[in-house]
Amino acid sequence: MKGQRVVVLGGAGFVGSHLCERLLDDGASGVVAVDNYITGAEANVAHLRGRAGFEVVKQDITEGFSVDGPVHYVFNMASPASPIDYAKLPLETMRVGSLGTENGLKLAQAKGAVFLQASTSEVYGDPHVHPQREEYWGNVNPIGPRACYDEAKRYAEALTMVYARSYGVQTRIVRIFNTYGPRMRLNDGRVVPAFVGQALRGEDFTVFGEGTQTRSFCYVRDLVDGLIRLALSDVIEPVNIGNPREMTMLEFAEAVRAAAGGGGRIVHKPLPKDDPKQRRPDITRARQLLGWEPRVPLEEGLRETIAWFRSVAGKGFTP
Ligand code: NAD
Ligand code: UDP
Repeated sequence: MKGQRVVVLGGAGFVGSHLCERLLDDGASGVVAVDNYITGAEANVAHLRGRAGFEVVKQDITEGFSVDGPVHYVFNMASPASPIDYAKLPLETMRVGSLGTENGLKLAQAKGAVFLQASTSEVYGDPHVHPQREEYWGNVNPIGPRACYDEAKRYAEALTMVYARSYGVQTRIVRIFNTYGPRMRLNDGRVVPAFVGQALRGEDFTVFGEGTQTRSFCYVRDLVDGLIRLALSDVIEPVNIGNPREMTMLEFAEAVRAAAGGGGRIVHKPLPKDDPKQRRPDITRARQLLGWEPRVPLEEGLRETIAWFRSVAGKGFTP
């Protein structure tokens, strides 16, 4: 991305802020983070202010917007992403996935830029195929509590393909699996900040259901590397980016306890409706087409994440 000017929609979010940082480190000539802070925060990119070429613009991307000057890449990371966030913001989630994605595509079209859409493993729903390959069309409940997110992302993928096939926009689609790291919000309800916060406070781990459901956790640095490789490739079809190391939520609680040296018993809470029972990416496509695979072991990523949560505790941020 050296010498390129890049727009990151949702650039003040968890993943978006790491992406902006990596782009600047790689020598991008400009990085414009566009965000309305609905689930992100300006504080996530405050450390980038003052770096040459970095701008942050407060803008809701569901409203028409433009960016002055040349743009070579548009990354669309904008969307509430945690089950608690999109349950609170269902209409905002559907609108950013539909109207927001179309505005991002139009920006890329006007600028002749490459457009990369952040999709999700949620497009596979509660999958009947395991591990999940990109060819699998999924098992999504279109009217359930997760539908506002899952269907918005499925629509966003379809829309992206329309702009590629019918309007010649250079598009990429990444299906992101569970990702964690510094700058997640401790209260966003996702299992990583939930368990880390509980460990740091010496509380019990709240395991939903029996805790036999599985997830596969990717460290954010690995994800960002995959996003950049995909943007630089010519791969139009969706690509899974995630870490194939799969574990149950009971095993994950033990991993957090070991990394944080804290946490108490396991307490079981009700399993949310439509919670996928298993999830693991098949990353053959990313390996073959992008030469990508995750490098950061869970233990190392958890150590870095926990260290970050500890470092911000007390600075207006209580675990
Ligand atoms: P996040 O909530 O931290 O970041 C999303 C950002 O988008 C926030 O800063 C938010 O304010 C912004 N945003 C939302 N609606 C907007 C709008 N209308 N206009 C402008 N900005 C808007 O979430 P995240 O975990 O960083 O996720 C980033 C992207 O990656 C999302 O698209 C998400 O669906 C996708 N994803 C993330 C994960 C994960 O595990 N983190 C997994 C799968 C997919
Ligand atoms: N989960 C849990 N305890 C929590 C939060 C989540 O056991 O305090 C479970 C949740 O039911 C799901 C898994 O952890 O099975 C991952 O949840 P998360 O919200 O992080 O992501 P997603 O369900 O979108 O994969």
